[in-house]
Amino acid sequence: MDILLLGPPGAGKGTQGAILATRLGIPKFATGDLLRDAVRRGTALGQEAKAVMEAGHLVSDDIILGVVREELAKPEAGLGVVFDGVVRTVPQAEGLGTLLAESGRQIDFVLFFDVTDEEILERLAKRRAVEQRADDDPDAIRNRLSAYRDLTRPVLDWYEARGVVHSIHAIGSIDAIAARVREVVGA
Ligand code: AMP
Repeated sequence: MDILLLGPPGAGKGTQGAILATRLGIPKFATGDLLRDAVRRGTALGQEAKAVMEAGHLVSDDIILGVVREELAKPEAGLGVVFDGVVRTVPQAEGLGTLLAESGRQIDFVLFFDVTDEEILERLAKRRAVEQRADDDPDAIRNRLSAYRDLTRPVLDWYEARGVVHSIHAIGSIDAIAARVREVVGA
């Protein structure tokens, strides 16, 4: 089963994606985690992505689709993947669709994590205090939210036209939200 998590930064995709992936016994793949790791290790990918990420802008579609292709080629990805923050532009949605179709797959569910702007700002400020992520500073947050509004929000319409979107009310306890996800996915 292939599941895509969509929603603004701080919506809880990472937390809920990990719970869901464990329950389904499939990997969770987050381009944000992979890129942060590449930056930490100073690889060519990391060097290319670092400044863009720290400013809160989006990494290019070509880079993202390249890493998605590599991920999908791994044997453990053969039965399905929880894609966390992997698609943030319409060309990425199209590209992921093409890559999955190569092995007769498609996105089965898009879970849209619905939260208010006030809640997001509050959560990101708290996360900054705990994780010290460079892109949780106020300027970068502003850029990330505007990238979300301008480039990622249209992805929701793209999938809605394909009838696979389920909205998850993403405010409440981790357990309560996990239960809502479970109800949608049915496992
Ligand atoms: P995240 O941890 O998901 O918030 O991602 C952190 C940062 O990595 C984002 O603000 C972007 O700079 C970059 N990034 C992660 N995934 C993508 C993607 N699918 N497309 C473009 N940039 C991405």
